[in-house]
Amino acid sequence: MDQALNQFKTKFGEKVCENEPFALHTTLGIGGPIKIFLDVQEQEQLIESVKLAIATNTPYLIIGKGSNLLISDSGFEGLVIKNSVKGIAQDGNNLTVKSGTVLQDLVNYAIEHSLAGMNKMSGIPGTVGGAVYGDAGAYGNSIRDYLASVQAFDGNNVITLSKEECGFGYRESNFKKNKYLILEILFTGLPNANAKELKKEALEIIEKRTAKYPPDTKCPGSFFKNVVAENLSPEQLKKMEQFVTPFGKIPAGALIEAVGGKGDQIGGIKILENHGNTFANINNGTAEDFYNLAKKYYLKVKEQFGVELEPEVQLINLPPLNKP
Ligand SMILES: Cc1cc2nc3c(=O)[nH]c(=O)nc-3n(C[C@H](O)[C@H](O)[C@H](O)COP(=O)(O)OP(=O)(O)OC[C@H]3O[C@@H](n4cnc5c(N)ncnc54)[C@H](O)[C@@H]3O)c2cc1C
Repeated sequence: MDQALNQFKTKFGEKVCENEPFALHTTLGIGGPIKIFLDVQEQEQLIESVKLAIATNTPYLIIGKGSNLLISDSGFEGLVIKNSVKGIAQDGNNLTVKSGTVLQDLVNYAIEHSLAGMNKMSGIPGTVGGAVYGDAGAYGNSIRDYLASVQAFDGNNVITLSKEECGFGYRESNFKKNKYLILEILFTGLPNANAKELKKEALEIIEKRTAKYPPDTKCPGSFFKNVVAENLSPEQLKKMEQFVTPFGKIPAGALIEAVGGKGDQIGGIKILENHGNTFANINNGTAEDFYNLAKKYYLKVKEQFGVELEPEVQLINLPPLNKP
């Protein structure tokens, strides 16, 4: 690893940080040291850093704003590339967006240019690349709605993937299976709309979100994915019928609340009273505290409802919750 570190220093000079605390780069404020850390502002450097990681056999991870991550207390023994490559280009109703663009900046840009299709994602933290990776969305809309294609680096070449090739599903994409670096996203056909009305709707959404996530809450958003009702067996569904929403989902927070999770705490991590799916770092919590609390409610929900909740958040250097 030290040899690799020297090669990164030779190529990227003072940009390379050693033993950077991961906690500084996650909304949870949790995560041990990163062996090699690079904050990258140019697309070419993004590609070059991945190429060097592959050439030196260095494990690597690309991150955006760290708003969907639970990193172990032991950190990451490899390269972490923070993607700060930003930019939005407009051609009529189409937008080409660099993956490190902050999602809220894209939402604001669309509103200012009287384009609908993005404003329901107001208030979701993170980058556009992170949103594409996990098919982020809210209030019935998601990042894939107007997405036409994604330009990505596959480790050898820059390629263009059609929307179908991205394999989107609820909080899912093929980027969770391959190790592609998302570079640029093309959104097409954003409908024309009245900017004032879009802004009003966006502000209403931000107000609702503030009630759910009070400012300064250190969390990774909702921890578990909601359960898709149509994927359940009739026996499972029978136990959870009362929770099904008009969107056909069973909120994970409702199941956690039903097994007594709200307000429970391990160490510095607490399940907030106002939302059963928000696990927050309220007092110097650790990844271990977080993991133990999440596992406790994964097991309780499984026992009572016969369903295995899946994390929406990416666990790094931590065992899967379903591991005995
Ligand atoms: C308060 C709060 C509220 C939230 N509300 C919502 C919500 O309503 N809906 C929702 O869907 N999410 C929500 N989230 C979760 C999170 O904001 C989104 O998932 C966001 O899109 C993640 O983006 P990020 O840049 O922070 O990604 P990160 O957390 O940095 O990374 C997440 C994953 O994406 C991968 N990744 C990031 N960028 C790239 C890239 N360029 N190429 C390849 N892989 C990449 C990373 O390797 C990692 O596996 C919320 C989070 C918080 C803290």
